[in-house]
Amino acid sequence: MPPFSPGRVCAPGTRPDCCGASFASAPPHDTQPVRRGQGRAERIQLLLRLQVSATGAARGHHRVLRRVPRGGRRGRRSQRPQRGRQQTGVVASRGRRGLFGTALSPRLAGLDAARRDLRHRGAPRAGGHRGLRDGLAANALPGLRRSAALLPPGGRRGGRSRERHLRTHRPPNHGLRPPLGLGAATDQHHPRRGGRRAARPHLPAGERVAAVRGHGPGHPEAGGALGLQRALHRPHALPSGPGAPGLRRGPGPAARSRPPHSKAWFDDGQHLPQPAARNRSRRIPGAPSTDRAHAVAQGVDRHEDQLARALRQRLLVIGGGWAGLAAAVRATAAGAQVTVLEMAPQLGGRARSWQDEAGAWRDSGQHILIGAYRDTLALMRTVGADPERLLKREPLTLVDPMGRGLRWPRQRHPVTAAMQAVAGHPLWGWRERWGLIRWGLRQIARGLRAPSGWSVARWCEGLPPAVRTQLIDPLCIAALNTPTDTASAAVLMRVLRDALLGGRGASDLLLPAAPLQELLPASAEAWLRSRGAVVRVGARVKSLSHEGRLWRCDGHEVEAVILACSANEAARLTQSLAPNWSAQAAALPAEAIATVEFHAPGACLAAPMVALSGGPAQFVFDLGQIEGGAGTRQGRYTAVASAVASELARDGLETVAQRIHAQVAAQVPGLENAQRTHAHADRRATFACTAQLQRPSAEIRPGLWAAGDYVDGPYPATLEGAVQAGLRAAEGAMTHNPRP
Ligand SMILES: Cc1cc2nc3c(=O)[nH]c(=O)nc-3n(C[C@H](O)[C@H](O)[C@H](O)COP(=O)(O)OP(=O)(O)OC[C@H]3O[C@@H](n4cnc5c(N)ncnc54)[C@H](O)[C@@H]3O)c2cc1C
Repeated sequence: MPPFSPGRVCAPGTRPDCCGASFASAPPHDTQPVRRGQGRAERIQLLLRLQVSATGAARGHHRVLRRVPRGGRRGRRSQRPQRGRQQTGVVASRGRRGLFGTALSPRLAGLDAARRDLRHRGAPRAGGHRGLRDGLAANALPGLRRSAALLPPGGRRGGRSRERHLRTHRPPNHGLRPPLGLGAATDQHHPRRGGRRAARPHLPAGERVAAVRGHGPGHPEAGGALGLQRALHRPHALPSGPGAPGLRRGPGPAARSRPPHSKAWFDDGQHLPQPAARNRSRRIPGAPSTDRAHAVAQGVDRHEDQLARALRQRLLVIGGGWAGLAAAVRATAAGAQVTVLEMAPQLGGRARSWQDEAGAWRDSGQHILIGAYRDTLALMRTVGADPERLLKREPLTLVDPMGRGLRWPRQRHPVTAAMQAVAGHPLWGWRERWGLIRWGLRQIARGLRAPSGWSVARWCEGLPPAVRTQLIDPLCIAALNTPTDTASAAVLMRVLRDALLGGRGASDLLLPAAPLQELLPASAEAWLRSRGAVVRVGARVKSLSHEGRLWRCDGHEVEAVILACSANEAARLTQSLAPNWSAQAAALPAEAIATVEFHAPGACLAAPMVALSGGPAQFVFDLGQIEGGAGTRQGRYTAVASAVASELARDGLETVAQRIHAQVAAQVPGLENAQRTHAHADRRATFACTAQLQRPSAEIRPGLWAAGDYVDGPYPATLEGAVQAGLRAAEGAMTHNPRP
C-alpha cells in the first residue's frame, strides 16, 4: 500500500504499486496537485462513475479517491452490480484549479448532456450558489477532466432531485456519533431519531469520514476533525455565521441517508431516554445532581431529597393565634415537624373563646368575616371546620336600628348592584346618590386604587356629609379599626375592591354562629395533633437565640422559627437578633376595641347587625338571630366600640361602657331596658392602620419569620390578614431555609 501523501493525487494506473484499476476512459497519467488550502470554500466533492474491474481498486489507492460501492446492501435491485464488474463511485476531493484548469476535451463532448443536468436552474454563472456552499457553481464543471461520466443529481439521471442541486453520493449510514471509546461523555449520547433531524451545523463529508471511519482517534489527521466531530454534540459552541469554517446548515448527508424506520439497538443509545440535563423542558429545577442521564432517576432523587428535607425540618411556631395556626397547618401539611407554643391557656389569640363560671362560652370580641376572606375560609375547610355551618351568611347590609340603610344585592354585576344599592337607600336624596355615583366613577377612572399616603378623609373629600357618616365612617372603622382622619385610604380601597368586585359571595357578611373556638382553633388543634405536631398551651417563650444553623428557644432546637406572637412580643424576642426589625415592630401604633354585652329576653333587632350613630359604639349584634334556632345565645346582644383607644385612656372602661349602654338604650328599639352583663376592652386589639404606616417585613433573618396581622401585607389587622401572613411565613420557612 503506498503511503498516503496528502496534497498529491495519483491518477490510476500510473504507479507500479497502483491498485491496477482500469478506467473506461483513462485520462493522461499524471500527478495533479491537490489544493486543499485556501479554505474549504474552494473544495468540491464530485461523484464520478468509473468502471473498475476489481472491487478493491480505489479503496487501496489513497484516500482522496475513495471507493464507494453502489448497489449492495442499500442499493435498489436495478442498481445492483453486474457479475464480474462493479460500479464504483469515486469521490474526488481536489482543488478547483486542478480539476477545472483546461477546457473540456472534445473526447468528452458526451458529457455535455450530463453537465446540463447538473446545472442548477437558478444558479448564478459563477460560484457562490447557496446550494453549493463550497463556492462553486454547477456551470464550472465544463473544466472537469478525467471523469468518464458525471452522476446526475439523485444518483440517476432524471432522479427526484434532478433540478435542485448537485448532490454527492449517499455516504454510508454511519451517523454522526463517534464509536464508543472515543471519550464522549456517556450522558452525551446522541440518540437517533425516527424522523428527519432538525437543521443543525454539520461537518463536510470528507472531514466526517476521516474522523469517524478512516482514522482512529490517535491518527494525526483525525485530531482536528475529531474535535469538530465532538463539537457537534454542542452545536451552540461552534462558530456560526458566514465566516464559520467547515460548517454547513441543513440536514447533512448522514441524516438524509438514514433509513426511515431505523431500529433501536441496545447499544446505540436510543433505548435510553433523552438525558434530562440536555433537555430543558425535562429538567427538574432544584435537582441535586445533573450528571444522571435518566430523568426519572433525577425526579425520584429530587422527591426523596424534598421528603427527607421536609421530614428533617423542625419548625417552631411561637404563638397559637390564627396566624400561628395557619402557619402550623401549612408546614405540617408540607411534612415538617411542627411545635406550637402558646402562652395563653387556649389557642386562638385575639379571636378565641372560653367558658365563664356559668359554663357559657364567651368570645374575646365580636368578629365579622366577609366572603372575600378566601384564605381563612379555605383554612377552616382544611382542618374540618365547615364555614357554611359555623358562619351565618348574610348579604352585605349597613342599616340603622330601624332597618333603613344600604343593602347590597347579591349575585349581581357590581355596577348593577351598586346602582341598586344607592338608588334603594331610603335616607338619601338625589344629592347624596348623585354625589356617591360621581365619586364612584372617579375611582373607576383611577383604576380603583387610592393614592398611597392618603387618609380616608382626604380621599372622600368630595362626598356628601350624609354619605360619609352613614357609609364611609362605619365601613372604615369596621374594616380598619382606625378613624377616617388617619386611616389608610389604599388599604380600605383594597378591602372594598375585594369585597365588592371579588365575585360571587365576596361581599357577603359572615357572622360567627358558634363560639370563635369552633371556627378554627379547636379544629386546627385536633388536626395538628392527629398529624404528629406538638401543641403546647400555657407555654410562654422567654428567649430566642441562634447558633450555627439552629435556633434555640426554651429548650427547643429547630431549623426554623415563626414568630406568630403579638408585635410587641416579637419585638422583644428579636431585640438582639434583628434590632431594626424589632424597633419597627415595637413602634406600631395600637388601637383599642371595647365590647359590651347585654341581655334582653324577647327582643329582636331589625337585622343581625345594626349600625349605631354618634358614638362611642358603631354596631350592635343580635347573637340569638345570628345563631338561629333556640340556642343559648337567645336574648344576648353585643355592642362594639372600635377605635376607642383615646376614650379608654382618658375615661377608663367603666365610663366608656356606661356611654355605650346609654347609646344602645336610646337608639335600639327593644333594648331600652337591656341589662349590661359584661364589658371588656382590648387596648391593643389591632394596630392603627394609618396612611403613613410602615409595617415590618415577613422575613426577619434566614430561618426566622414573622406571622401576624401586623406583618406587611395588603390587608389590615383582620383574621384574613393574619391567616395570609401565617401561610406566607410557613412557605418562606420551608422554602428558603437552608438544608439541615
Ligand atoms: C375585640 C376584637 C375584635 C376584632 N374584630 C375583628 C373582626 O370583626 N374581623 C376581623 O377580621 N378581625 C377582627 N379582629 C382582629 C383579629 O382578631 C386579629 O387580627 C387576629 O386574631 C390576629 O391574629 P394573630 O394570630 O395575628 O395574632 P394573635 O391573635 O394576637 O395571636 C398571637 C398569639 O401569640 C401568643 N403569644 C404572644 N406572646 C407569646 C410568647 N412569648 N410565647 C408564646 N405565645 C405568645 C398570644 O397569646 C396569642 O395567642 C378583632 C380583634 C379584636 C381584639
